[in-house]
Amino acid sequence: MAQKKKGGEEDMGRVAIYAGSFDPITYGHIDIIERGLEIFDKVIVAIANNEEKRSLFTIEERLKMTKTIFKDTPNVIVDSFRGLLVDYVSKTNAKVILRGLRATSDFEYEFHMASMNRSLNTHLDTLFMMTSKDYFFVSSRTIKEVARLGGGVEGLVPDLVVRRLKEKFKLPVTKRKHISWDD
Ligand code: ADP
Repeated sequence: MAQKKKGGEEDMGRVAIYAGSFDPITYGHIDIIERGLEIFDKVIVAIANNEEKRSLFTIEERLKMTKTIFKDTPNVIVDSFRGLLVDYVSKTNAKVILRGLRATSDFEYEFHMASMNRSLNTHLDTLFMMTSKDYFFVSSRTIKEVARLGGGVEGLVPDLVVRRLKEKFKLPVTKRKHISWDD
């Protein structure tokens, strides 16, 4: 809850930024966000709009899916950003970048990024959370690969994402004829 600090500065509580491609969002991401909410008052999910990186889902599609998934969670804000993450963070009142760590393979990249971000903004820290045992093997990339080949990804991504993946890869969507972006 926003409270007035002495001197009129507004205190929005502890805010973390969870940035990534979310192409598409998985239960691995959602697990980190939910655990982040145990520590922070608000988590801003910042979806990178990076034209140089080819994505399966457009930025609008990723925003819409992620917003729909968190529509009943007011302390999760879904937004997009372009350019440097530190520049985006400085426009918010977050002091912490939240990241998920899967295996040792994530470590080197994450270590470099966290160090670089700290050198760009010394007030900023990165907090890492270990992946849950149920999702350590889940990445957006493998989800897309499996879904493209017709494999089941139920239980690893929300049902909405399962349906969007089937639509993208023109695989039969069971039961419903048409699904709107809002359901
Ligand atoms: P991905 O690496 O799956 O394409 P993103 O670029 O969207 O995902 O990553 C955003 C953040 O989420 C990164 O810190 C990444 O390490 C983390 N992350 C992604 N998948 C998982 C998972 N299954 N468990 C924990 N953290 C994850």
